[in-house]
Amino acid sequence: LKSLLNGPSLLAEQAYLAGHWVDGDEGTFEVTNPARGDVIAHVADLSRAQVAKAIAEAETAQKEWASWTGKERAAVLRKWFDLMMENQHDLGVILTAEQGKPLAEAKGEIAYGASFVEFFAEEAKRVYGETIPGHQRDKRITVIKQPIGVAASITPWNFPNAMITRKAAPALAAGCAFVARPAELTPLSATALGVLAERAGIPKGVFSVVTSSNASETGKEFCENPIVRKLTFTGSTQVGRILLRQAADQVMKCSMELGGNAPFIVFDDADLDAAVEGAIMCKFRNNGQTCVCANRIYVQAGVYDAFAAKLKEAVEKLKMGDGMEEGVALGPLINASAVEKVQTHIADAKAKGANVILGDSGAPQGPGYFLPPTIVTGATKDMQFSTDETFGPLAPLFKFENEDDVIAMANDTIFGLASYFYAKDLSRVYKVAEALEYGIVGVNTGIISTEVAPFGGVKQSGLGREGSHHGLDEFLEMKYICMSV
Ligand code: ADP
Repeated sequence: LKSLLNGPSLLAEQAYLAGHWVDGDEGTFEVTNPARGDVIAHVADLSRAQVAKAIAEAETAQKEWASWTGKERAAVLRKWFDLMMENQHDLGVILTAEQGKPLAEAKGEIAYGASFVEFFAEEAKRVYGETIPGHQRDKRITVIKQPIGVAASITPWNFPNAMITRKAAPALAAGCAFVARPAELTPLSATALGVLAERAGIPKGVFSVVTSSNASETGKEFCENPIVRKLTFTGSTQVGRILLRQAADQVMKCSMELGGNAPFIVFDDADLDAAVEGAIMCKFRNNGQTCVCANRIYVQAGVYDAFAAKLKEAVEKLKMGDGMEEGVALGPLINASAVEKVQTHIADAKAKGANVILGDSGAPQGPGYFLPPTIVTGATKDMQFSTDETFGPLAPLFKFENEDDVIAMANDTIFGLASYFYAKDLSRVYKVAEALEYGIVGVNTGIISTEVAPFGGVKQSGLGREGSHHGLDEFLEMKYICMSV
């Protein structure tokens, strides 16, 4: 891995605890390259006491940090952003090595992750309050916004950089201190952010990266330690529920970005080529391992066969392999159980009568967690992927007859994160966009992520929003001051 980097300095196996690089009291844990199956790093495994120390130091550092002006915080955050972009290549290589996505995509994630730091650096200057005309002649009412205090995050392995910056940047901009616990599968992208935070001049203790193999212990410390006033989590709905229950004891403010089960609808009047292109970006980005990836593709009867044929033709061209190789569009899945889950969904669909029209070619030989992209036709409601997120390169095509039916099918899930549809008729576009019970609707596009818009789900896909000026509010408390004059 070192030989692929411009310099060795971003590769950090220690944890970044309150401005110090430390070893873990529990030893180390291994990080594996999913394309090759080999161990690429031994990362500090922190004890619960060490996590508590990071939180305690964050409390002290936060008070000073919050006293800085927005402009002063903005300058340091801007520097952090600049350093991320200057080091985009090395950050991308580290990300590909531990996570598997193709290097071009990994570098794209670095730019996406950095964009949150740039955006919230700018927003740091705009934490505006409010004045409200008094309710009595002698009363003056002012509303101010203040940082909530110490915030902690738990993030997944599918976006090891951007899921952290999307939370840390608004927290820091607001004047909070931040303790990040990266996924144990992908800690190196997080410690690299620690290296750059230190270089950018973010004060000691304001941003810590606590690496640990024991997620539940760290999660408990975050929820039970009274210093932590905000928990921000991205991951499965199942773990989100556990954390919400744990956080309830302290009535802790929580943001939850949980699972999705995104519908992708193609109507008769859609531009089919655009829909195929959108479906590929949406379904196969990160090899299907994003919570906004299309999980159920609904195609209207009149264009069903044509869409299936075009999708197959396009997917066949995607090259699969080690993400470090030129021209690779599909990397490995994250681990063996991810492969197994997709295989289970394929077997279940086959047993229930679906046809596999693509999916038996192209997997590289040898180690690594590869699975060829698979398309099935004849998908039905009783198949596992209807209710369960596949999180892999499987595209099931469902046939539908009319608008009302497909809206009902699309909404028939406990999830409500992202949804997509392709259509041209304007009244249909409005009607469907309003009827979809999702936090995000992509119309004639398969890519919806940007730092300037509020990202988040309804129903069991989560609580709160990330990105946009709304993302900042998640780390602020409102205080109303009532003054008699
Ligand atoms: P995914 O399927 O994306 O891995 P998870 O919800 O299992 O989703 O994991 C998301 C993050 O939550 C990971 O960093 C994982 O280590 C962490 N995690 C898993 N279980 C717990 C738990 N009980 N408490 C706190 N964090 C957890």
